[in-house]
Order: sequence, then structure tokens, then C-alpha cells
Amino acid sequence: MATTIADIVGSDLCIGCGLCEAVTGGRVRMELTGAGSLRPVPLDGFRSEEEVQLVTACPGIVASPRAEPGQPVDDVWGSYRSMSYAWAGDPDVRFRAATGGVLTALGTHLLADGQVAFVLHVGADPEHPVRSRWVISETPADVLANSGSRYGPTAPLAGLCAALDRQEAFAIIAKPCDLSAVHSFSRVDERVDRWCVARLALVCGGQSRLSKTLGVLDRLGVAEDEVASLRYRGNGNPGPTRIQTVGGAAHEVTYLEMWADEATWAVETRCKLCPDALGEAADVAAADAWPGGAPVGEDQGFNAIVVRTAAGEALVDDAVAAGRLVVGGPITPREFDDLQPHQVRKKVALAARYEGLADAGAPPIAADGLRLDALGARLAADGWQAERDGAARRIEEARS
Ligand SMILES: Cc1cc2nc3c(=O)[nH]c(=O)nc-3n(C[C@H](O)[C@H](O)[C@H](O)COP(=O)(O)OP(=O)(O)OC[C@H]3O[C@@H](n4cnc5c(N)ncnc54)[C@H](O)[C@@H]3O)c2cc1C
Ligand code: SF4
Ligand code: SF4
Repeated sequence: MATTIADIVGSDLCIGCGLCEAVTGGRVRMELTGAGSLRPVPLDGFRSEEEVQLVTACPGIVASPRAEPGQPVDDVWGSYRSMSYAWAGDPDVRFRAATGGVLTALGTHLLADGQVAFVLHVGADPEHPVRSRWVISETPADVLANSGSRYGPTAPLAGLCAALDRQEAFAIIAKPCDLSAVHSFSRVDERVDRWCVARLALVCGGQSRLSKTLGVLDRLGVAEDEVASLRYRGNGNPGPTRIQTVGGAAHEVTYLEMWADEATWAVETRCKLCPDALGEAADVAAADAWPGGAPVGEDQGFNAIVVRTAAGEALVDDAVAAGRLVVGGPITPREFDDLQPHQVRKKVALAARYEGLADAGAPPIAADGLRLDALGARLAADGWQAERDGAARRIEEARS
């Protein structure tokens, strides 16, 4: 087990969640590196008790599922109560949100129903709209204004202690690694389980460094400071990436153009080693629902959801009863595999990749309860070696 945040950052395992900033009260800040990742700075700025807490919870090296006993457990999808299609009941939410608006609908429902005082999530930074920042939404309109996927760096947990300090029930919408860190952090801060009463995850294929977005702007001939707004998707499913400039020009790039060439994705190292991109610490996880894993055109917006906990089930039932959510037909785990084939491939490769991590002398990633050995047994010997060597090479490259 690594003992310092410097080890984690030095091996490029930090995902930039922001917990370092929250725990130090902002003494350590999340800053953008030259490569376009958010990282804690300075690395020698932690008090020893802070660093002990952080190393316990850091999603760079700990993935922590929050399974409830007695539920079915699928090797790929983890513990679940139900899986189904779903979408927002309000057509405007469904249209504007990333996919079918499930996460926005659930956050909105919790607020409108008085179950939470606010939602901690992320949105575009009004001062630098190409970038993202954590945000506290106190009204359904705020939640909707911050809907949509932000593919660049975000640090939602930089807001975690500000949220806990309010001593009010709140929901968090974030990536699986963020929610894993929230769960791990609950072991050192008892306020987490008391106040963070709903945890909603987006299923996640990986976070791009800002260089991905800046590359797109570059190709369009738009400078970052000319951008007035940037939405990656939404306003349809998937909807276009839309960039509006302060001069009034608008540029659109389709989802398929945006993600056609994997070499341009600039995905964080940690994402290639991610043992839980499916939200196993969430109450409800929401994904895209395209057969084969990619859209063939625009549709009305359909999420595939995994309801994992009793609290998640109650929330979904309540939101349906209130008309804020619509639940469609059930999805079996093997049907879910077909909607997310890239997730299955990655999970099967991880046990081999973790050997490569050890070969490179990087800190191990604790993934207890995430079934990586059982999944790794599906990988053929030549594939295993290639995955192992590739992971070791990526860590070496990240360090050089
Ligand atoms: C980096 C990234 C990778 C993804 N990869 C996949 C994938 O491989 N497969 C798949 O099925 N879906 C993936 N998605 C999720 C998908 O884009 C939708 O977010 C998801 O289907 C939920 O849709 P929705 O309509 O319910 O979301 P919405 O109702 O639009 O709500 C989205 C919520 O997520 C929050 N959010 C957005 N971006 C971030 C972020 N970077 N960090 C933390 N919180 C954020 C917003 O604040 C908002 O509350 C990815 C999303 C992101 C951001
Ligand atoms: S806690 Fe978050 S910000 Fe800090 S090193 Fe880990 S991943 Fe990075
Ligand atoms: S792939 Fe995993 S580590 Fe990367 S952003 Fe998504 S949940 Fe976090």
C-alpha cells in the first residue's frame, strides 16, 4: 500500500477527484497540469493525519464497492436489485440531459420532495466554460442547468467537506471513482453516511485530460478564451458537442466524430486500470443504452440503469410515482454487456494489467469485492501478457 499522495500522483494513479483539496481545507489545491489533468499541489502540503485519511480513501489506489447483503452479484455488473431502461418523465429534462436524464430527474426529485437540501455535482465553470468545477445545486432548475456529461477533468470531491459542513442531507451525482472515494472516506468521517443520503453514478468509460477538448478547439480554430459555452452532449441523445463563442459563432461536432479516434481521447492512466467504472458504490448507476456500445443516430434518450441499494430502489419508485422518472423494460446482465462491451473488455483485462502495475513498481490498486480474478480467468495467455506489458509501459511513460 502506498503511504503518500506523492507516490500516487508520481505513478499517475491520481484521477483528480479533489478530495485532497477538501480534506486540507484548500491548503492543497487542485491545479491543472501541462498535460491537462487536475492534480493536488503542493504534494508536500499535507499534515500527517490528513495524508493518512487521504491514502485510506484515495480513489487512485482504493476502489470500494458498497454492496448490500442478499442481492444477486454478477461478475461484471456487481451487486444489483434491478436493471432496466429508464428516462426522465419531463421531456425537457430528457432532451437537455446527457442521455435520458435519469440522474437529473433523480436529483430533481430528491430536491423537490424535500429529501435533500442540495445536490453536489459538477458543471461548466462560468468563468472558464471549457473547464468544469464542482457545484452545489439547491433547486431543480440548478440541477438541470448542470446536467450533461463533462468529459474533461472535474474535481467533484473538492466540494465534499463544504457539503458535509452544512450538516444537511444531500445527494451526490458523480463518477464511480468519486463515489467509491466517498464510501471509503465514510470510514474516517462519520458525517458522510449521516448527511450524504443519495449517491448517484454515471457509468464511466474514462475521463479525458483537457488536452482532448483543447485539441477539438484547435481543429475548429477557436481559442479557449473565445469560448462562451461548451456542452459535450445533450440536447438530444447523444446530441452534438456544441461550442458557442463570445463573438456569437456556433460550432458543432457529432458524438461519433468526437470519439471516433481513440488515440485522441487522452484518457487518464487511472481509467485504464479502473476496477469499478460501473458505480458499485452508488445507490443507482445510469448508463447509455446503445446496442453494441455506440449510437447509430439520435434517439429520444434512453438510459440503462442499475439499481443497487434499497435506498436506490425507494428513490426510483418514488420518482416514478411522482412522474419524474419512467422505467422501461428489464435488462439482464448479459444484455447489459452488449450495451457496454468496452466495460466488459476492460474488466476482464484488469487482473493482467495489475500485474503490469506491480512490474512497474507502482502502488497497487485495492479492489476487494470487485471480482477481478474471476473475470481475469477469461483472458487467454497471450492476451494476458499483452495487457500486463501495456500497463507497465503506460506507467513508465507517465513517469518519464
Ligand atoms: C467522463 C465520462 C465518461 C462516460 N463514459 C460512459 C460509458 O463508457 N458508458 C456509458 O454508458 N456512459 C458513459 N458516460 C455517462 C453518460 O455520458 C451519461 O452521463 C449517463 O448515461 C447519465 O445520463 P443522464 O442523462 O442520466 O445524465 P444527466 O441527467 O445529464 O446528468 C449527468 C450528471 O453527471 C454529472 N457529471 C457530468 N460529468 C461529470 C464528471 N466528469 N464527473 C462527475 N460528475 C459529472 C453532472 O453534474 C450531472 O449531474 C460517461 C460520462 C462521463 C462524464
Ligand atoms: S484523493 Fe483524489 S485528488 Fe487526492 S491523490 Fe487521490 S485521486 Fe488525486
Ligand atoms: S474510468 Fe474509472 S477512474 Fe476513470 S474517471 Fe471513470 S470511474 Fe473514474
